[in-house]
Amino acid sequence: MDKPKRLDYVVVGGGLIGLTAALRLHDLGWTGIVLEQQSKLSESRSQLAPARALTEISPRVLALNTATQASLALAGLPLESLQTLGSPFRGMEVWDRELSGALNFDAQGWIVENHQLEGALLALAESKGIQIRKANTLRDSIIDDQRVWLDCGQGVQFEASLLIGADGAQSRVREILGVPMLNWAYHQRAVVAVVHSEKPHQGVTRQWFTGSGPLALLPLADPHGLVLIWSSVEGQALLEVSGSELESRLVRETDQLMGGLKLVSNRQSFPLQQQHAMRYVKGRAVLLGDAAHTIHPLAGQGANLGFADVAELVDCLVQMSLDPSATIQGALSQFERRRAGQNILMTALTDGLSRLFTDPKPAWLRVARSWGMRLLDREAQIKRLLTETAAGRW
Ligand SMILES: Cc1cc2nc3c(=O)[nH]c(=O)nc-3n(C[C@H](O)[C@H](O)[C@H](O)COP(=O)(O)OP(=O)(O)OC[C@H]3O[C@@H](n4cnc5c(N)ncnc54)[C@H](O)[C@@H]3O)c2cc1C
Repeated sequence: MDKPKRLDYVVVGGGLIGLTAALRLHDLGWTGIVLEQQSKLSESRSQLAPARALTEISPRVLALNTATQASLALAGLPLESLQTLGSPFRGMEVWDRELSGALNFDAQGWIVENHQLEGALLALAESKGIQIRKANTLRDSIIDDQRVWLDCGQGVQFEASLLIGADGAQSRVREILGVPMLNWAYHQRAVVAVVHSEKPHQGVTRQWFTGSGPLALLPLADPHGLVLIWSSVEGQALLEVSGSELESRLVRETDQLMGGLKLVSNRQSFPLQQQHAMRYVKGRAVLLGDAAHTIHPLAGQGANLGFADVAELVDCLVQMSLDPSATIQGALSQFERRRAGQNILMTALTDGLSRLFTDPKPAWLRVARSWGMRLLDREAQIKRLLTETAAGRW
């Protein structure tokens, strides 16, 4: 067996968050490796092509806030890259369908396809010489305050100063660390598809709280192109109804605001759950992104929280490097303290909204929520606070 390879960091999980973390650490001069279980990465890179027709767009998209835009720029993907990869949105409308209450936000950000962003981050990582290795097993490990030792099988072993678990909602790293989770199952599925609207979207993200769950339409570069994300207790049925039936239902649920709506892609669906790790740090290991917290997509914040985790971790590690008496444990504890607040706030906010707007519920609550929305729309300070939180500036 070869001697373990000695590195500064090992990232498990080559998704959006793991790749961004590796890019930032590489720029600090740290040497490391990304272990990714799938070989999807090189495939997604080869599909990278800007300005595609609506029919070629994948409905699995992300709404990225301005804080994430800044994070991506620090990782090496400047605004011009987002301009090529995605499309901007410059407003958000939230409708309560039942009682016609509506909120308007002055929100800004980018809509980007998941696989396009992942492909761009991968290409960047490869161009910088960051090692990305296909590995799906951690056969054995020692992770404590002194060291990280990993055995990936077939004689491949690593020793590192820091282990980053960015391996998503079903994190194996989290399991190895024995970190408990708080879980909420929603019994909803998010059904996503690309649709064409009769009326132009004007770059506005819109969301309707329907009886079966929140329905969002996110604007694409095509002025009539939108991505539908419908988180619904009827998820399976929405996958099975005919295209024309779903289109009529969409027009009804959106109160014809966008005129006629036509499906231009297949439908995909994702089970929804919310979960939060009781700790983000154990020994020299840290959990980032969905490995630490998975939230309902209704606020479009899951990945944004993960990018904010990366930014904070790098900040704490930079501060550590400037102070000769600082330790990596101190830096990781500081990271955990700083991130827990915002992550828990957003988790509570999305969970509360999801429950408030999904049937069944007492009628008085339905009336209260609609009045609440109308009052909130006039209350500039609370609106500003919500907008700042969603933008990641809180
Ligand atoms: C329908 C829907 C809409 C959403 N919309 C938004 C939005 O608008 N805005 C937003 O900010 N967020 C949104 N999200 C959330 C967002 O998609 C996630 O928060 C984000 O993708 C998490 O990224 P991640 O890198 O942490 O995890 P993942 O994307 O899950 O990546 C984890 C990676 O780790 C790899 N991996 C797993 N296990 C192992 C292992 N044992 N060894 C090696 N590799 C492993 C996986 O193959 C994967 O590549 C949405 C989610 C859904 C379901």
